[in-house]
Amino acid sequence: MMYQFIQDGGHYVISLNNHVSVMEALTAFCREQHILSGVIGGLGAVNEATFRYLDPATMKYVDKTFLEQMEITNLTGNISEKDGQPYLHVHITASRSDYSCVGGHLLDAKISGACELTVDAFPALHPGRRADEETGINLYRF
Ligand code: FE
Repeated sequence: MMYQFIQDGGHYVISLNNHVSVMEALTAFCREQHILSGVIGGLGAVNEATFRYLDPATMKYVDKTFLEQMEITNLTGNISEKDGQPYLHVHITASRSDYSCVGGHLLDAKISGACELTVDAFPALHPGRRADEETGINLYRF
């Protein structure tokens, strides 16, 4: 188990275990709790974070990893469904030891300390995802 949680209906309070991958643990949580729709919020601390930037001029992805202890000052995301599985779209900002922040579209991060999240599930809504033919971006499909 990569997480612990408590639940009231569709409202979840989640603690990710130390040293786990944020995306791996959150995806496992959604899969195991059968959540295919909702929003994610949270904070915590990481010692590794990889962001993905889509350069609109070239339509190429540029990935960058920061290997240092940082506070997650905000994690915000949404849950939808792609190919029958939970699909997570997560952005974070993280503050460094000098209080400057880095952030962006989260590919993955490693917990170093704690990660406290809330998930609000929207079980009556079924947002899907499909790769856009022109851009390749996985866009919402309603
Ligand atoms: Fe994004």
